[in-house]
Amino acid sequence: MSVNKKLLILAGDGIGPEVMGEVRRVIGWMAAKRSVSFDVDEGLVGGAAYDAHGTALSDETLADAMAVDAVLLGAVGGPKWDNVAREHRPEAGLLGLRKEMDLYANLRPALVFDALAEASSLKTELVRGLDILIVRELTGGVYFGEPRGIETLADGTKRGIDTQVYTSPEIERVARVAFELARKRGNKVHSVEKANVMETGVLWREVVGKLHAADYADVTLENMYADNCAMQLVRNPKQFDVMVTDNLFGDILSDCAAMLTGSLGMLPSASLGGEDESGRRKALYEPVHGSAPDIAGEGSANPLACILSFAMCLRYSFDMGEDADLIETAVQNVLAGGLRTGDIMQDGKARVSTTGMGEAITMELDKLTG
Ligand code: NAD
Repeated sequence: MSVNKKLLILAGDGIGPEVMGEVRRVIGWMAAKRSVSFDVDEGLVGGAAYDAHGTALSDETLADAMAVDAVLLGAVGGPKWDNVAREHRPEAGLLGLRKEMDLYANLRPALVFDALAEASSLKTELVRGLDILIVRELTGGVYFGEPRGIETLADGTKRGIDTQVYTSPEIERVARVAFELARKRGNKVHSVEKANVMETGVLWREVVGKLHAADYADVTLENMYADNCAMQLVRNPKQFDVMVTDNLFGDILSDCAAMLTGSLGMLPSASLGGEDESGRRKALYEPVHGSAPDIAGEGSANPLACILSFAMCLRYSFDMGEDADLIETAVQNVLAGGLRTGDIMQDGKARVSTTGMGEAITMELDKLTG
């Protein structure tokens, strides 16, 4: 039994602890049925941490997050903390983690499960079988560039300033992640920028092109302007395999791709940092959805995004692709069998609770491995 897989679970607020409970169920199943044990620690983040310690991310929790192989996060936030000072808001805990762990590559898959293809706002034939991976640069660009701010000019009018800035190493490291991932999938990368009107876009295209020629000539590379990409995503999304883009365009395009799949409760994500000397990457896995205060405490939340985030953790932090495939197949089969949480409910299907869905997944895992 391996005991060196260190996980930190930060369930957070709202439905975070509810959906994370079902990830624990899957972790328990893996220990019992696959002889894979994780060294699991727990901590507080977001509003829960603020209530306990007066800060959304304590120094101890941050130190724990830096020391483990992977962090699993539920969700943070809620109306209870609406009036808390900005630096102590639940979201500041999550942003602090991403920043301190230097998680520069945000991986957002847009995967359409056959049973849910009809839930997409696009025609079923356009999205059935869709499997895109968007790699968004997460720690640079216009969200962090200086100078920024709002100033009052001599004539009394105001001026708002944001600065889009990228260095070549920042572009190269995120592009490298995209090329490496493409090799394990469809071997195609779309690099997305606006080199036609932005200097950072010109540099982006140059750096990605050089890296491609030097180290990844076996991977197909296509450059695409971000506006065209937005159009292509809803015109013919299956043309994409891996997409790599900057922080701002990635924010927008990944939300657009997410909606192709039809449900927030199904979408996992991973955020990866650089490799240390031993080849280990800092990593944080979390569902794309928030803390859903409107349904928190009801036991009705969909745990699949969180369970699929754990599958990503197995794939990317522990090189356990086979186990990740197993979990994804279990999700596919349970949906095909007609079970649904409220958010993905369709006529003629059977509605289950959060725990009901988690139980169905482990029962299906039993079947798949039995
Ligand atoms: P949200 O994602 O929490 O909810 C949006 C809608 O989707 C709600 O109707 C909710 O009930 C539903 N929903 C979300 N996840 C679901 C699930 N797993 N199962 C069933 N239904 C689900 O977004 P919001 O309402 O804009 O934000 C609520 C709070 O969450 C805010 O405080 C916000 O800041 C925070 N938030 C946190 C994160 C994060 O932790 N990464 C992300 C987004 C929002």
